[in-house]
Amino acid sequence: MQTGQKSRMVLPDLKDRVALITGAGSGIGRAAAVLLAQQGMKVCLVDLKDDRLEQTKQEIETAGGQAITVDIDISDPKQVEQAFEHTAHTWGRIHFVFANAGINGVLAPIEDMKSEDWDRTLAVNLKGTFLCVKHAIPHMKENGGSIVITSSINGSRTFSGFGMTAYSSSKAGQVAFAKMAALELAQYQIRVNAICPGSIKTHIGENTQPTPELEKIKIPIKYPEGNQPLEHAPGEPEQVANLVAFLASDASHHITGTELFIDGAESLLR
Ligand code: NAD
Repeated sequence: MQTGQKSRMVLPDLKDRVALITGAGSGIGRAAAVLLAQQGMKVCLVDLKDDRLEQTKQEIETAGGQAITVDIDISDPKQVEQAFEHTAHTWGRIHFVFANAGINGVLAPIEDMKSEDWDRTLAVNLKGTFLCVKHAIPHMKENGGSIVITSSINGSRTFSGFGMTAYSSSKAGQVAFAKMAALELAQYQIRVNAICPGSIKTHIGENTQPTPELEKIKIPIKYPEGNQPLEHAPGEPEQVANLVAFLASDASHHITGTELFIDGAESLLR
C-alpha cells in the first residue's frame, strides 16, 4: 500500500471550525493545515516570516479552503498574543490549536553546550508552547476546544539522540505541561494532548545545528540495525496530520492529558 493511500481516511466533519497552527509553513504543521482545511476548517497559519508560509496558504486556497497567515516568532509573548487576537477577530472564535512549531537547535555535548543555545531551544519549543496555550485560553474557555502539542519520542521514550539534551528536555517538558494543562483546563472543556512522532520526513534538518564536539559523545552499546519496524522508513507528515485531525475533532472528545506515539514502533527499540 502506498503512503498516500494510508494517509486517506474518513474524517469527522470539522467544517467551519477555526484552527490556529504553528509551524504551518513546513513539515507536520503544513500537512496538518492542508488536511484540516480540506475538512472545512478555517486555518490561521503561524510561522516565521518565510515564503513557505505563503505557499501553504496558496495551496489551501487553490483547493477552495480558507486561510490567513501570521508571521511571528512563537517565543515572543506579545506576538503570540496578537496572533490569537487576529485569528479570533477574523473568525469570531478558536476551536483548535496545534502548538507544533519547533527546532532541533544546536546539538552539542553538555559540557560544550552554550547556555544561549540551550535557552534558544527551550524558548522556541517549551516557552513557545506555553505561550500558545496561555493565549489560546481567553478565546476557548467559553465554548471549549482542543489543543494538540507536538512533542517527540525524544525525551519520553528515546534518550539516544546525541547532543540533544536541550531538545529532549524541551520535548519532555511539553508532555508534563500538556498533562497539567489538561487538568487545569478541563473545567473549560478544553482538551490538551501531546503527540510524539518518531522520525518524520520534514525540513527540520534546516533548524538542526550539529557541532564538531558531538564526536566526543560515545555510548558503549550497539543499537539494533534499522529503526522503523513497521514501515522500514521515516513517517510522512500526512500520517501525523491524520492523528492531529482526529484529536481536533469531536471523535476524540474523551481523550485529554495523554501523549500519543506515532512512530511505527521506532521508540520501542531503544
Ligand atoms: P519543519 O522544520 O519542517 O517545520 C517546523 C516549522 O516551525 C518551520 O516552518 C519553522 O519555520 C517553524 N518555526 C521554527 N521556529 C519557529 C519560531 N520561533 N516561531 C515560529 N515558527 C517557527 O519541522 P517538523 O519536523 O515539521 O517539526 C514540527 C514539530 O515536530 C517540531 O516541534 C518538532 O520538534 C516535532 N518533531 C519532528 C520530528 C521529525 O522527525 N521531523 C520528530 C518528532 C517531533
